Amino acid sequence: MMIRPEPRTPHVPERTCVACRRKRPQAELLRLRREGTGWVLEQGRRSGRGAYLCADSPECWTEKRLRRFLRGSAPSVSEALQTRARELDRRALPTPTEG
Ligand SMILES: [Zn+2]
Repeated sequence: MMIRPEPRTPHVPERTCVACRRKRPQAELLRLRREGTGWVLEQGRRSGRGAYLCADSPECWTEKRLRRFLRGSAPSVSEALQTRARELDRRALPTPTEG
């Protein structure tokens, strides 16, 4: 009986970052959700129409970069991304000993 070798690279769904246009696995991207006439950073469950942004590259989070795609939502999404980055930073720090 022939056993077919497993493909080395299983199919990973790829999405394009709206800021830098790089194609990356979905897991490496943050999701934006269309809300009314604007966009918001997806913070929980996925719904509605989505767009994607690099999760790990702050240069993709600048208002200037986002404006091409997000238009009027660029400032608020940029702000949400910066806030998120700061929170992740804080969590990454060693927990101070409480006393
Ligand atoms: Zn990007």
